Amino acid sequence: MYDIIIIGGGPAGLTASIYALRAKKSVLLIERYAPGGQVAQTGKIENYPGFKSIDGLELSNLMFEQASDLGLETIYTDVIKYDLLGKVKKVETYDGTFECKAVVLALGAVARQLDVENEKKFIGKGISYCATCDGNFFKDKNVAVVGGGNTSFEDCLYLADIVNKIYLIHRRDEFRGDKHTLLKLKEFEKVGKIEFVLNSVVKALNGEDKLISVVVENKIDKTLREIFVDGLFVAIGRRPDTSLIQDIITLDENGYIITDENMRTNIDGVYAVGDVRQKRLRQIVTACSDGAISAVDIIDYISKTF
Ligand code: NAP
Repeated sequence: MYDIIIIGGGPAGLTASIYALRAKKSVLLIERYAPGGQVAQTGKIENYPGFKSIDGLELSNLMFEQASDLGLETIYTDVIKYDLLGKVKKVETYDGTFECKAVVLALGAVARQLDVENEKKFIGKGISYCATCDGNFFKDKNVAVVGGGNTSFEDCLYLADIVNKIYLIHRRDEFRGDKHTLLKLKEFEKVGKIEFVLNSVVKALNGEDKLISVVVENKIDKTLREIFVDGLFVAIGRRPDTSLIQDIITLDENGYIITDENMRTNIDGVYAVGDVRQKRLRQIVTACSDGAISAVDIIDYISKTF
């Protein structure tokens, strides 16, 4: 039996593991794809203290290496079922069932979809939810990015070095993303690399075997415009992936896990950290903070409970 099982290898889960391993707890990390979570798919990160600018994948690898050197065990698989109500917790995966004294849910969040007709049909055929993963497929092509938050901004910055032109489609004329990054985008606008398509929503996605154009509607004058692009990057936020635990863990109205300040959920020995948790600021630095806090509380919990 492990002391702790952590589900999700983003910065929150990895930081929890580093703090727990340094306290000599045994830790199993269950990760679906690759360590790093959303950060591994981010281009340059310029707001994580200690690094003026670092590639998301590089930062993820550094965190994972640090945890692995401390003795982190990792399996790459999907969780099928949780049995969390007893003192000993069980996590069933495609690679077997594992037991532990405490569970950390570092489940992150998955990309939101536009919910426009043909969206699913064009995934991998023009539509992508990850610019750093798929941007290179669109070298010297015209692409669109939808969204107005930091992810859409970073996608634009990343794509600007690769593609011919970017249309940034946003449903309002004010952005949610950092003003600092917006200024960088405006520099690209001056040279025609980026065009802001504001107050606009995607109404249709056209093409046969692959995407060829996006129709947007201007919300103010209701005019329609067809923009011919080879790629569309959807960056309209994320939603928590809490479907497997929704019957036993208390969630807010948007599906995020409600915790106390020590990252405890409503179930003893079950913690939630990072983007899956209800909170105001979802950043790497706050994810790391959640992870550290949870580990310290878990160490205490285990010594009192077992
Ligand atoms: P976000 O901040 O929630 O922004 C989502 C954007 O998509 C918003 O501008 C929203 O428009 C728009 N949107 C939402 N639903 C839409 C729909 N159905 N159709 C069209 N547009 C829609 O999401 P995010 O950019 O993924 O960022 C998530 C979190 O990660 C944020 O806290 C962000 O700061 C953080 N993040 C930080 C960094 C960094 O600091 N380096 C990088 C990436 C992400 P409205 O504005 O009108 O609501």
